[in-house]
This record gives sequence, structure tokens and C-alpha cells, in this order.
Amino acid sequence: MEIEVQKESPHCIGCNEAFVNGQKHHSLLRIDANNFIREDYCEKCWATRPDAVETTYSHWETRYRDPAAAKATPEGQFMPLLKLCYESISQEGREFEATAYVSALVLRRQKVFRFIREEKEASSQRNVLIFADKYNDTQIRVIDPQLTETELRGVKQKLEEQLGYGKGQVDER
Ligand SMILES: [Zn+2]
Repeated sequence: MEIEVQKESPHCIGCNEAFVNGQKHHSLLRIDANNFIREDYCEKCWATRPDAVETTYSHWETRYRDPAAAKATPEGQFMPLLKLCYESISQEGREFEATAYVSALVLRRQKVFRFIREEKEASSQRNVLIFADKYNDTQIRVIDPQLTETELRGVKQKLEEQLGYGKGQVDER
């Protein structure tokens, strides 16, 4: 499966008006058939947009970064892990939750993700970690599956085998 998170759009999806560098606006991610759909809105369109909250996976306020003004992010060795993390998030089941969770923690250690906060999901009463994905310039939500030691070891082993991480590199803290 190919997972690609769309970059920030240079214009509002509602009125099509171009963002200026530094302009405050709203972004959201939806998951549609295992794909992440990104939508960027100016403040005016956000306030009047048709309600789609139930399909919204993540939403945040941001400022438009003109690609010409932003410095290029080098694609490092974290790319396969980043891809695995998004693939796992878009699927359901404990094994995927476990992979997404451990991948996110490793990406945080690698400074690709920045931890923002922890919340309790109202519907399920489960803890959710919110991270800023600095590479894709998005915010993602990762369920804390409360892994047992055995499960944690299993995921670490899988990452080490699949991605060639050396022993000790995949550490949850
Ligand atoms: Zn607009």
C-alpha cells in the first residue's frame, strides 16, 4: 500500500485564494479508504465550511510556509519508518496500533516527530498521543495501546527485522 500525505496546499480549498507566507489558516487530515486526505482552509472558509467533523482524523491551526521560504528537509533514513507509521495508523487492529505507537516513539527520538500532548479519546476512553510530524508538516494522533512487555518486544523485533534497525536503536523512550 502506498501512503502519501499531501503537503500543505498553496491555496484555500474553499475559495481557491492563494495563501501568503505566514498566513494563519486551518488544516485537517481525513482518512478515506486508507488514504490520508489533507485539506487547507483560510479562516473565513473554515468558519463556514460544511461540517465534516466525523470524518476528520486530525485538525490543527497552522501558518502557511511558502516552499521557497522554507528550507528543504533532507530525506533521511527515517523515511521507511515514517511510511510504516502512516500505514499502520490508517488500518485497524491491535497489531497495527502497536506498530504505529512504537514507530511514532522512535520517530520522536529521531526528532522527526515532536510530541504535543496526550488526550483521552471521548468515545473510547483511550489515551491518544498527538505529534507534530515535522517532515509532512501535519499533526497525527496515535493511540496508546498500553502494550505489554511481550508485545513491545515483538514490535521492536519486527522493526529491527523489517527496517534493519540495529539492536537498541528501537527503544520506546
Ligand atoms: Zn477560503
